[in-house]
Formats: sequence, C-alpha cells, structure tokens
Amino acid sequence: MSDSSINFSQARKIVIKVGSSLVTNEGKGLDQLAIADWCKQLAELVKGDSVQGIPREVIMVSSGAIAEGMKRLGWTHRPKELHALQAAAAVGQMGLAQMYETELRACGLSSAQVLLTHADLADRERYLNARSTLATLLEHKVIPVINENDTVVTDEIKFGDNDTLGALVANLVEADALVILTDQKGLYSEDPRKSHRAQFINEGQAGDPALEAMAGGAGSSIGKGGMITKIIAAKRAAGSGASTVIAWGREPHVLVRLFQGEAIGTLLSAVTPKQQAKKQWMADHLQLRGSIAVDKGATEKIRSQGKSILSVGMTAVLGEFTRGDVIAICDFEGVEFARGLSNYSSTEARLICGKSSQDFEKLLGYSAEPEMVHRDNLVLTGR
Ligand code: GLU
Repeated sequence: MSDSSINFSQARKIVIKVGSSLVTNEGKGLDQLAIADWCKQLAELVKGDSVQGIPREVIMVSSGAIAEGMKRLGWTHRPKELHALQAAAAVGQMGLAQMYETELRACGLSSAQVLLTHADLADRERYLNARSTLATLLEHKVIPVINENDTVVTDEIKFGDNDTLGALVANLVEADALVILTDQKGLYSEDPRKSHRAQFINEGQAGDPALEAMAGGAGSSIGKGGMITKIIAAKRAAGSGASTVIAWGREPHVLVRLFQGEAIGTLLSAVTPKQQAKKQWMADHLQLRGSIAVDKGATEKIRSQGKSILSVGMTAVLGEFTRGDVIAICDFEGVEFARGLSNYSSTEARLICGKSSQDFEKLLGYSAEPEMVHRDNLVLTGR
C-alpha cells in the first residue's frame, strides 16, 4: 500500500468513517436508507466474494449521535453549549447504535458499540485494551461501530466530526485503508462553491503540506469536520501506513467499487509502508522502561519467523514497567534485537517468566493475552 499506483483492492483491514451530515441527511435525523445501504456494502466487504474474493475486516466509525439526539429532544437548532451537545449525543447514540445493529443484523452481521476518546488511545494501557477488544471482535466477524464518547470529552464535537477519531482507530488497528465518506466528491484545489477554477484532486500524498494549503489552512476549519480535518486525518492515518480515500458517501456502491480497485474520490497515499511506520513509531515516541531476555529457540522464532513472544521462552525480566510500556527484547547473549509493547507489567512478567500461558490464570488470578508481546506490537531493531 505505498506506491503511487496504489488501489484498495488488496487492503484487508479497513476503517470507514461517515460524518454527521451524511448519516443524518443534513441533520434531518438518521437516514435509514443510507445506513442500510452502507451496511449491505459492509457485508459484501466482509464476505469478500464481490471484492476480489478477499474477505475484509471492517470497522465503522460513525457520527450522527448529536443530530439524532437533537431530533429526539425536539431541538430545531444546534445548541452552542457543549454540555447541551453532549446531552444530545447521549440521547442520539441510542438510536445510532440501534440502527446499525438492525441494519447489520439484516445482512447477517453482528455489531458492537465502542465509544472511545483520544485520551484512551494516547494512554498505552488503554490503547492495548482497546486494541485487544477490537481484534477479538474482528476475529469473531463482528463489526465494531465506533463513536467518540461524547459524554466525557468534546474534541470531535468542537473540531472534527470524528475525522481524527477515524484516523486514530486506523492507527490503533493498523488498518490498510481509511475511507472517509463525506457529502463532497473529494478534495478540490479551491472551494468549488466559490471558484470556477477549482480542480478536482484525484490523488496526492498524505502529509503533503500543499494539501493543507488547498483546504484553507489549519485555522479555517474550526467548526465541523471540513476538508482540512480530513487531510490531517489522512496524514495521521499514514503514520501507521494506512492510505486514505475521501469520497462521496452517496456514490452508488462506493465501498464495494473502491475495494474492487476502482479509483473514486481523492486518494491520499501513505508513503511509509506499515512495518516501517511501526518501527519509526516505536523508535520515535517511546521510552524504554525495561527489558526481557528470551532463550535461543524463542530468539530464532522471533527473528526469522516473526513470531510473538511467549512467556515460556522468557528467561529474565529487568526494570519496572506496566502493561502497554515499550520494552527491549534481548537474545540469549543479552543483546537487544527487538522492541515491543508489553502485555503484562514487570511484576506479572516475573511471575509468568518461563511458564506456559495455560498457567496464567493460576499464576496471575486472571488470563489476558497468551503472548507477552504480540507480533503485531513487535519490531526487530538490532542484529
Ligand atoms: N460524536 C459526535 C456525533 O456523533 C460528533 C459529530 C458532531 O459534532 O456533530 O454526533
């Protein structure tokens, strides 16, 4: 997913974000027909038959709670006060979740409501928890339907209409593709409502500063999810190697056609491949809190086969760390060769060191992930 001829036909893990104006038909309450149509397309993506025979894992990030809540409360104007918007979101979220549940069920799919905040994803322990939950849902072919937890935060209400949340979720699950469905066809060089010279942008590179300038600069969108928040979301998604498409949500069969490989909307490609992006992220953002050593067999399996680290192969635990911290992985000679996010604290790690994951319940009193460090959270660093 990294060259300029990129298309989405090979993308397996997909985050799809729909904004309020689409989901609620410009604020008139939830648009059941539109939601039903996207759900049918999601079912096609999950089954895979019509999209190159490749079953896809799909996560929906949907706004619409505030607009639906306003309708249910009989409010005709969007209030200015954040607490009123938050209350409307709490009311409307009931209807939003219910509609996705009904429409996905009609297509034979189960769904799950997940409410997240930016802070959840910045905290490494909560990040790992959210990630494990989402991975488990996807494993069971359940479609997570995510919104911001508007009761406790106001980020997306103030700025983004969930564009940023969509990107953060793409980072969280290491998606291949982020699709932002909106009420416009994509990105133009200028505002097409104001200038007849406006040209449609078919393709660009996520993170290219020229795109931000086209969308009017960072300051121009303080309001609700304009193009700029989508461009910034694409840049953020590219941080974990996901490319983004911004497309019109009412384009017939838009999702299925995209994943059949058709070029629709504006494609903002990620230049850094997924694995490299992850390596960069581990190197840039995280401080090492401790380390573990693994035996010769485990070193080999991790190095040459990219396997997860199991407690049974661990021989030592150094330093103090908590779940979600980055730790160094050392080989049997004590030399670091990898880094990863630890699923267990150093105290727990000492208890399970050298033991089988089947004994976790007995040793720890509970059982979480069977791996000490999952291969998806692991990068090779040294020799
Ligand atoms: N999370 C909010 C919602 O679902 C964001 C959208 C908005 O501010 O209208 O309604």
